[in-house]
Amino acid sequence: MSGPDWLGAGLPHIWLPYTQMRTVSPPLPTVATEGCRIRLADGRELVDGIASWWTACHGYNHPHIRQAAMAQLARMPHVMFGGLVHEPALRLARRLSDLLPGDLERVFFTDSGSVAVEVAIKMAVQYWLNRGVRGRSRLVAFRGGYHGDTLATMAVCDPEEGMHSLFAGVLPEHFIADLPRDDASRDALERLMAREAGQVAAILVEPLVQGAGGMLFHDAASLRFLRDLADRHGVLLILDEVFTGFGRTGSLFACEQAGIVPDIITLSKALSGGTVPLAATVARRHVFAAFLSDDPLHALMHGPTFMANPLACACANASLDLFAGEPRLEQVAAIGAQMRAELEPCRHLPGVRDVRVMGAIGVVELERIGDMNRLKARLVEQGVWVRPFRTIVYLTPSFTITPGELAKLTGAIRTVLADPP
Ligand SMILES: *Cc1c(COP(=O)(O)O)cnc(C)c1O
Repeated sequence: MSGPDWLGAGLPHIWLPYTQMRTVSPPLPTVATEGCRIRLADGRELVDGIASWWTACHGYNHPHIRQAAMAQLARMPHVMFGGLVHEPALRLARRLSDLLPGDLERVFFTDSGSVAVEVAIKMAVQYWLNRGVRGRSRLVAFRGGYHGDTLATMAVCDPEEGMHSLFAGVLPEHFIADLPRDDASRDALERLMAREAGQVAAILVEPLVQGAGGMLFHDAASLRFLRDLADRHGVLLILDEVFTGFGRTGSLFACEQAGIVPDIITLSKALSGGTVPLAATVARRHVFAAFLSDDPLHALMHGPTFMANPLACACANASLDLFAGEPRLEQVAAIGAQMRAELEPCRHLPGVRDVRVMGAIGVVELERIGDMNRLKARLVEQGVWVRPFRTIVYLTPSFTITPGELAKLTGAIRTVLADPP
């Protein structure tokens, strides 16, 4: 095998994510990142269209985050968060509660989006138990949703995406409904809640955009309906902003566009500016209050070893500095406008079903993708890193991408889709 020595030596020992290892086309050995570019071992450079699964919102290797990371690395890369606290985490918790709407003010740190959602589910279920209400252990979640890969979060994903039938008997059963987009789906949800509310701990939804489910958009009115529905039936509303948080949809948090405050919100992906794994589950005052008691069993029973890792929190604080000091939301608006103009011509290409843009998310949806491996390879030949999945080719670039780099991404998509594999 050609390429660096570590490639041939290590590849036979690696198990790749969501990959049929028998037929996988070889992954690209990567040696460096800078700005919106990924450098491969053979010297080629790709313009990155997806910011490493939606994390690198300021581009790679931003000097401000790098400096903060190096200073924290020298002082205290990690210390346990049981019985000890530290400045990076406490400063970050305070800043997140200042940025989030309403009284979302209690921050529980973890290290991945899936675990942040797991913690939100545990919080919601235990909220009722602590208040002496039994039987409210199920969630209402939505078709097209994605909340993570762990067993508890698979159970609240889209039934097919979450492989509910394959893992039947292993996954807890929740209520999976259609998003309330029209009268029929609103009525169906009303009926579901009228019948089952006594079993429901919380409604869980990704606000405005269902990301991994296919970049499916819904509007702010749907979210306002869910807030109202939850209030009328006295259940909690959890917003999973692991993907939408930190500017991606055009506002710092998607829930701002609906003017609603969830009872619990989850954050990760762009939280540390795409550097070190970090996640947070943030609860409102009344949720936290249900855990205050003389009964030791009323404490939140969760505590990951690396929770509130100081290095990750330092990176997240530096990332928030950049949101405060640089015009990120203006950049998001400009990226959206450019993608709208430059992806729109795809609408007339053969096999294109839809073109849609929200914030810094641009999507070309196809009827079908015939040869996915070939499509991916053709995009790389164009000098771009774009990862189509299901039936969509999408862009979620860093907010610091230049108009020229973005034009290279949209141009590559137009070129490849004009002559689809
Ligand atoms: C990616 C994602 C998750 C899972 O995050 P991981 O860090 O991969 O565990 C959960 N919810 C949403 C909305 C996501 O996009």
